[in-house]
Formats: sequence, structure tokens, C-alpha cells
Amino acid sequence: MSTTEIPRLDAASLRADFPILDQLIGGERLVYLDSGATSQKPRSVIDAEVAFLTRANSAVHRGAHTLAAEATDLYEDARATVAGFVGAAPENLVWTSGATAALNLVAYSIGNATAGRGAPASAPLALHPGDEIVVTESEHHANLIPWQELAARTGTVLRHIPVHDDGTLDLDAAASVIGARTRVVAFTHVSNVLGIVNPVVELVALARAVGALTVLDACQSAPHLALDLPALGVDLAAFSGHKMLGPYGVGALYGRTEVLEALPTFLTGGSMVTTVTLDDAEFLPPPQKFEAGTQPVSQTIALAEAVRYLQNLGMDAVQSHEHTIERRMMAGLRGIPGVRLLGDAEGVSRVGLASFDVDGVHAHDVGQFLDARGIAVRVGHHCAKPLHARFGITASVRASASVFTTEDDVDALLEGVSGVRAYFGVGA
Ligand code: PMP
Repeated sequence: MSTTEIPRLDAASLRADFPILDQLIGGERLVYLDSGATSQKPRSVIDAEVAFLTRANSAVHRGAHTLAAEATDLYEDARATVAGFVGAAPENLVWTSGATAALNLVAYSIGNATAGRGAPASAPLALHPGDEIVVTESEHHANLIPWQELAARTGTVLRHIPVHDDGTLDLDAAASVIGARTRVVAFTHVSNVLGIVNPVVELVALARAVGALTVLDACQSAPHLALDLPALGVDLAAFSGHKMLGPYGVGALYGRTEVLEALPTFLTGGSMVTTVTLDDAEFLPPPQKFEAGTQPVSQTIALAEAVRYLQNLGMDAVQSHEHTIERRMMAGLRGIPGVRLLGDAEGVSRVGLASFDVDGVHAHDVGQFLDARGIAVRVGHHCAKPLHARFGITASVRASASVFTTEDDVDALLEGVSGVRAYFGVGA
């Protein structure tokens, strides 16, 4: 489809679908630019969760009564809908409580392949002292600390691919960091600080060439880009519902069939077994073998509704809208004296997210100044301390968009940021 055929998304009218936006903050219209932390939820998503709890609530996959059967159908339909959204089959999608849980699941399961009960059967995934795990310098802590912990538990070495000054990944360095000892390459699709879309296909090719497992953090891409995880070729991928117009408490791990079959379990308990004796247990096939315990049923159903909302808009339209917002935001911020953008690379794909530093004013002061004007942004290190250290700062201001972000929202941000330094008496 050419760009001209992509339907335009009318963000100003979409605002009416998001009840939270219809309020004043300190007397000002709410300009919500913190969707990178968590997006707002359309009425249909809120209603879907309430409707399930009001009319169909029941535990799934057990019980012979009518409500249990209905809940199970809705829950498995939700899995099919969310899997389809990322180009996957339902059996390739494991429900988790979020991306952090999904990434920890993978790291702990690989640890169990190394030293747990699953060890003999999953030998290809086992790590040995001296093996290497590779991440990037731009990871969210959720895709960094689980690997640090796994490396410490298994005596393996954690290495990283650096980023250039403009925020892009150093692919030359990647080609030498990923080598014969690399067993896992875990990287983010889109940095939650830089907004830059990483070259997934190139990284997967480097990892495949040495037989390493690839783990994609798709938290910041799933809400904004048309995703086809099987086509990207990654082995595993994680994302969170609450960042993609869905509720809290639910996320997913996508995995290729062979990989999910080979990965040993992490959490064990009810709902994931075929037979159990006092001494032993046999597990269900994936995805259930990773879904021990009572599942977040109302949340999965509401997440499926969020996916339907995005699908109705069309992910091409979402992407194109956010591209317009991103260009306006980046160009505007670039033009404000004293503002330094993190990851100001030319000619790269981005989502609608920009982080910046205002010379002489602490990020928290910028955040408060904007809040007084009804503008909600995120301030701090955004759970990416190493990346901030790379840019020589401890905190930044992040503005991030969603489908309901309008050009007026961006203009309000730009006007606000333009006034920050004068207000704080800096660099006049
Ligand atoms: N990865 C990235 C890139 C993120 O932005 C986030 C959330 N800020 C996470 C992982 C963790 O997601 P959650 O807190 O929903 O588990």
C-alpha cells in the first residue's frame, strides 16, 4: 500500500473514546504524553473487562458449569486475537503478567535448561561457563537485569552492543560482539528512551549465523507498528498489555514452536500439568506449560478488545499518524534553544517518542513546569540507567504519543518546553 492510500487517523475525534482525557488537570486541558509508560484505555476496553466480571466471571479450563465454559471460550478467543495481532498462532502465545514477567520467564527457563529438571531434554538451550549473552546498551532494565542474573547463576559472560552518539545501534560492533560463544541475543525492538526502531532482521541474521537464541523486547513496538513476529524471525518476544490500550496485569510471551517446546518450565503448579503423583509431574504442552496458576482472565479479554480497537483503526494508519506526530515533535524540540534530544539520528524509523535534556534545568523541574500546564510527561531514567550514563546524564524528559495524541498536544508541549529556561532563569 502506498503512503497516500493509508487512511488518516482522526486523533482529535478518537479522544472522545478515552474517558480519562475528558478532564482538566489544574484547570488545564489534559495533554497526556506518557503513553510510553502506560497508555490510556478506550471505553470499549474498560467496558469489556467490566462486562466479563459482571456477566461471565469464572475460572478457566476447569469446572463443567456454563460460566466456566463461557469464560474459557472468551479467554482462548482472546489468545487467538492477540496472537493474530503479532502474526502468530494461538499456541505460540503464552500469557504472562507483563513484559517483565515474560523476559524473566525466558531467563529463568534457560537457567533451568542449564541446571534444572529440564536439563537433559533441553540441552541445546543450556549455557556453559564462558558462553556469552548479548544485550544492547539501550535496554530497559527489564531486558537487562534478568540476563545479568542469569549470567551470574550460570557463569556466563554478559556483553553489550553499544549505541552511537546519534542513538542508533553500532552494527559493526554487533558483528564482532556476537560471536562463536554467543548463546542468547536479547534486544529491544524500539528503545523506550530513544524511540528508534532497531534493525531486527540484521540482528537476527547475526545471531542465527552463530546459532544463538534471539529474544525481542517488543514492549514499545507492539502498540505502534504492524508486527509480524514470525516474519521478523525472532525466537521469542515479549510485550505488555497496558502500553497498547489494554489493562494492567497482562502481557505475553511469543515463542517459535520448537523453542517453546525445548524451553523447560519456570513457574510450576496448578493448570499446567497432565498427571501428578507425590513424586513427579508431567506437563502440558506450550503454551499451558508456562501458565501455572490462576490466569488474569478479565485482563486477557480486555486486551483482546484493545487489539480489536487498534485493528479497527488499522496499524498502517496508527503508524502513519504517529510518524506525523513524531516528526512535528522532533522538529519542534530540535528548534528550542538549550534542548538536547537523545538519539537525534537522521533517516531512521521511529515511533512517536522523544527524550530530551534541557540545559541547566533538572528533568524533574521540567516535568513539574509542564504538569502545571496540564502536560503529562515522564521524567527520570525511564528504567534505562546505562543508556542515560552513555549520554552523560542521569535523567531526561520523555514525551510519548499514542493514537489519541493530536498535533495540538505536540504544540502545547513545544510551547511549554520553550518557556522552561526563562522560567527557571537559565541561559536568557
Ligand atoms: N521493556 C520496555 C522497552 C519498556 O518500555 C517496558 C516498560 N516501561 C518494559 C520492558 C517493562 O514492561 P512492564 O513494566 O509492563 O513489564
